[in-house]
Amino acid sequence: MTLFEEAKKYIPGGVNSPVRAFGSVHMEPVFAKYGKGPYIFDENGEKYIDFINSWGPLILGHSNKFLIERGKKYLEEGLTFGLPTNIEVEMAKFLTQAIGTDMVRMVNSGTEATMSAIRLARGFTGRDKIIKFEGCYHGHSDCLLVKSGSGTLTYNVQTSKGVPVDITKDTLVCRYNDIENVKNTIEKYKGQIACVIIEPVAGNMGVVSPKLDFIKSLREITEKENILLIFDEVITAFRCKFGSVKTLFGIEPDLYCLGKIIGGGLPVGAFAGKREIMEHLSPLGDVYQAGTLSGNPLAMKMGLDVLKILKENPSIYDKLEKNAKLLEEGFNDNIKSVALPAMTTRFNTMICLFFGEFDQIESYDDVKKADTKAYEKYFSYMLKEKILLPPAQFEAMFLSAAQDDEIINYTIEKNKEALEYVKENLNK
Ligand SMILES: *Cc1c(COP(=O)(O)O)cnc(C)c1O
Repeated sequence: MTLFEEAKKYIPGGVNSPVRAFGSVHMEPVFAKYGKGPYIFDENGEKYIDFINSWGPLILGHSNKFLIERGKKYLEEGLTFGLPTNIEVEMAKFLTQAIGTDMVRMVNSGTEATMSAIRLARGFTGRDKIIKFEGCYHGHSDCLLVKSGSGTLTYNVQTSKGVPVDITKDTLVCRYNDIENVKNTIEKYKGQIACVIIEPVAGNMGVVSPKLDFIKSLREITEKENILLIFDEVITAFRCKFGSVKTLFGIEPDLYCLGKIIGGGLPVGAFAGKREIMEHLSPLGDVYQAGTLSGNPLAMKMGLDVLKILKENPSIYDKLEKNAKLLEEGFNDNIKSVALPAMTTRFNTMICLFFGEFDQIESYDDVKKADTKAYEKYFSYMLKEKILLPPAQFEAMFLSAAQDDEIINYTIEKNKEALEYVKENLNK
């Protein structure tokens, strides 16, 4: 019996989060045993270059020596108290300054962050309806599991079973990068919409960049209608750049959702925003939100150490961006020379390779045209060459600062062979 077969006996689908099942690439998943720098070593003793990096958190790569030494010390200081701690104050001060906002509340996952931010937006505005965008993923809370991205897109779950219709009726879904669609929806439900939640750079339907005038108009219209604008930056914050991506657009959302990188590999999320909104949270206000392990000292200490490294070493972002650009250029050259229908999308350090014929990739409708069978062949070839990509077309590649030129060049070289392999097997 393989480990996966055994896993499936005790865990639904053998995994604790669906994309890990390698379902859309029809293979048994890689079972990670340990990680070192840019590599994952699996239970069979194979070594892979890792482009998953735990789906974002490991921006410094695996088992950073400095962080491990610090972590050992933190373990001795106690794991959790259920009392406020100094490190939570330090984390809150650091995060609000880095993001450029007033207050933050820590939670344990990105799902909790978006769920709580939406509750807060509804409590603050006294309105029930929300707008989300097709193909954006905001975790798995009920009202956000409509035309979602990531695993729901991979497994084609448009709306999850078990979510009452009464809950999804307040979720309005708009097209990414289509401001007219947003304007019409807001007009139709005037005075009823609490918030618009968006991935400012979409990373859960592959990588889809926002158009600058779309994001700017979104801010203008929400402000005019007293609708809160929520940036779900669970991926983008501290990945595309240090802090929030808002500075790249020159606008200011009302609330931010954070996660992944800020926990340094431990389970953490957060939501942050303007004081007059955040003060509606319990115990000050009447929007309830709580968590036994929220602000967990170990997670705060490990997360803050990572954030401080990122702040003190801006060259990390230069390196990530340089590597993403090299991959983009390398992939594009390969696509051209192999003459295979495919397209690379990139926003700063976020990059994705789509298979299929595209005029442009700006929305869910565009990404749905992707040839997932071609991606499957690509993925399996790369895996054979010991390069671990996200096991689904609709995900970003996650780079880490532990990846050097040699790894990037090797990846580009193998990408060419993989594209040739895909082309030869396109209709098989
Ligand atoms: C991963 C992700 C989430 C959910 O975070 P979890 O920690 O998996 O609950 C929410 N929003 C975005 C944009 C994400 O990428």
